[in-house]
Amino acid sequence: MDVFEVCDTTGWLGKTLGFLVLDLEDRDGKTRDIFSRTFDHCFVEHGFVQSAVPCVAIVSPWNRSRPRKPTLLTHSGLRVFSHELGHAIHSFAQGVKAKGPSDFVEVPSILAENWMHEPKVLQRLSCHYTYLKPQYLVAWKDAWKKNHPSKNLPPQPPRQAPLDMFSEISYQRHPRHDMYDTLKVLWMSMVDFTLHNSSEEELSSMDFGVVCKQVLDEWTRIFTPSAGEGPSQNNSYLHWPILKNYDTSAYCYLLAKIYGYDIWSKYFARNPFNKRAGRRWRKIVLEHHDTKVSWNPIDKLVDLLMYKIFGVPRTHMEALTKFMGRKPDSRAFVRALKAPANKNQTFWRRMGIRIGYVW
Ligand SMILES: [Zn+2]
Repeated sequence: MDVFEVCDTTGWLGKTLGFLVLDLEDRDGKTRDIFSRTFDHCFVEHGFVQSAVPCVAIVSPWNRSRPRKPTLLTHSGLRVFSHELGHAIHSFAQGVKAKGPSDFVEVPSILAENWMHEPKVLQRLSCHYTYLKPQYLVAWKDAWKKNHPSKNLPPQPPRQAPLDMFSEISYQRHPRHDMYDTLKVLWMSMVDFTLHNSSEEELSSMDFGVVCKQVLDEWTRIFTPSAGEGPSQNNSYLHWPILKNYDTSAYCYLLAKIYGYDIWSKYFARNPFNKRAGRRWRKIVLEHHDTKVSWNPIDKLVDLLMYKIFGVPRTHMEALTKFMGRKPDSRAFVRALKAPANKNQTFWRRMGIRIGYVW
C-alpha cells in the first residue's frame, strides 16, 4: 500500500490538497472490484490553521508481483485505473464540501480515461519490466532461451515502448469501437428509468429479468432471441452496482460519455498536454460548488446578477457552459458515430494488445 500527499503546485505554498492511498495488490479476503473511496476526515496544518482535506483510496485486486514475475496491466486495467484516478482528482479539487449533482460525478472520470488512449501519454508511462529489477531481466532471458533454444538472445527491449505500438490502442477511444459499452449503459439507464417509473403494485408483480430483456431488445437490438418470452431464469441483473449506487441516475454514464467526448474533442484531442485547458477545467468545473438553493428572492437576485455580470456559475451545467463557451452537446459524439470505421484494424488488434510493458 502506498500513500501520496497531493499538493497544489499552482500556489506559492504548495498547499496540501489531500492524500491518495493506492491499495492495488491482491490479498486474502480482498474484494474483486476496482473502486475509489473518499474519506473526509484527514486534517493538515496550514500555518496555525488546521483544515480538513479528503483522503482518497483506490482499491484493486491486481496480482501481486513475485520475485521473477512482475505485475503487468492490460490496457483495460489501466483504463479503469485512470477512471478511478479521475474520481480522486475531482475529490481533491472539491475538498471536503458537497460533491455536486449525482448525474455529473462520472464526467471527470470518463474524461480522464481519454488520456489512456493517447499514444504519447502511454509511451511516457510505459517501462519494459526488465528494467524494474535485475531478477526480471534474468527471468526474461531464461524464458527466451527456453522458448527459442536454437536462437541467439536478442538485445533487451527498449525501456519505453515504441510509439507505433499504441496507434491501434488510440482507436479504442472512438465511439464506434466502444459501441458495446455505449449500448450497455444505454440499456442500464432505460432499465433504471423503467423501474423508477413503475408503481409499487407493478413492481411487486414484475419479473425483473423479463423487463431487462425487453428493454435490451427494444433499445439495443442485440443478442435477445427470447426477449420477453417466459419467466426469467436469471435475475443477476439485480446485483448491478450501477443500479444500486446510482438510484435514478444510471444515465450519468451515458451522459458522461457524450459530454466527455465533447470536452476532449474541443480542448485535448489536438494537444493532450494542453496545460491551459487543464487548469481552466480544474478551476471552472472541478472546483465548482453549486450555489445553495434559497427561497429568499434577494439571494436569488444576487446569485443571478453574479452570474450575469461576473459569470459566477450557480450550477454544474453553468460551470460546464462557461468552460466550453457554449452548452455541452452530443454533436461531436454523434459525428464520431457516423464517421467511417478504421478499415486497417484487424479483429485481434481491436480486442487490445497484451504486451510485456508495465504501465
Ligand atoms: Zn466512476
